[in-house]
Amino acid sequence: MKRIGVLTSGGDAPGMNAAIRAVVRKAIYHNIEIYGVIGGYAGLISGNIQKLELGSVGDIIHRGGTFLYSARCEEFKTREGQEKGIEQLKKFGIEGLVVIGGDGSYMGAKALTEHGFPCVGVPGTIDNDIPGTEFTIGFDTALNTVIDAIDKIRDTASSHERTFVVEVMGRNAGDIALWAGLAGGAETILIPEDPYDMRDIASRLKKGHARGKKHSIIIVAEGVMNGYEFGKRLKKETDFDTRVTVLGHVQRGGSPTAFDRVLASRLGAKAVELLMDGSGGRAVGIERNRLVDYDIIEALAKKHTVDLNLYKLSKELSI
Ligand code: ADP
Repeated sequence: MKRIGVLTSGGDAPGMNAAIRAVVRKAIYHNIEIYGVIGGYAGLISGNIQKLELGSVGDIIHRGGTFLYSARCEEFKTREGQEKGIEQLKKFGIEGLVVIGGDGSYMGAKALTEHGFPCVGVPGTIDNDIPGTEFTIGFDTALNTVIDAIDKIRDTASSHERTFVVEVMGRNAGDIALWAGLAGGAETILIPEDPYDMRDIASRLKKGHARGKKHSIIIVAEGVMNGYEFGKRLKKETDFDTRVTVLGHVQRGGSPTAFDRVLASRLGAKAVELLMDGSGGRAVGIERNRLVDYDIIEALAKKHTVDLNLYKLSKELSI
């Protein structure tokens, strides 16, 4: 392979820049030319493609977001859209593509692969909801942002003897809620993977209150319900002074943690290696700290599961 491309697609995540940097530097290290597609699949269709040099990725390893921009593109879900994309890739002489994004972006990579164009998917999303990897690029950074917020909320919660409900992101996965709840010492964690029992939550809160607990923090994953709605229901059940914080998009920004930068560097480089070996249609990931790769179609067919042992532990530690 003499020339490859890279794009970021779907929701952005901290560490995407570090992944692009790894793809670019690894390719150039092996004398492969590298082109960046600007604005995800929309940029692919319109031919918004630029050659990248070593210097193009200087000074970005510590920056959140993605300097190649990301976009959502309905047209790319159609056969015509995909064919237009392949035409552009051919026009630029690009022989393989690294797609950094979530499972929607993987679907695009899968479609290109089915058209005979080799693609490798790199998992980039804060939600940690991509099958075929234990961790996605951006999850650790989002987690640390949430922890920072929970610690601050804890200060004010204890001063006023209040119950705080914190809604966190994660789409249909409870990973951010679970890990942040465990690391932040939350009393209750609500994840979409396990139905909640409002009476049980209320009774635990009341028991804690009776033994002198000054405050409680409840983490609600966005996949369970809106934080404000949950706050209303809780107030009805307990009559405790309840405040709600919806963290929202702050979770998507910020400088990536060391963990995310290292993960992004390893996964980005691995994606280039696979293309060099002529292996298209793969998705890279990490399992037990080892790099792995799966057929992208097989990876998409698997289901992401939240760590139920960790969930059990969070319940045991928040009695
Ligand atoms: P994410 O990658 O974060 O899951 P999306 O689900 O929005 O984000 O997907 C990003 C983009 O991937 C979409 O806007 C679209 O261009 C492309 N995509 C999603 N699903 C498909 C599909 N079934 N076929 C082809 N392209 C798709």
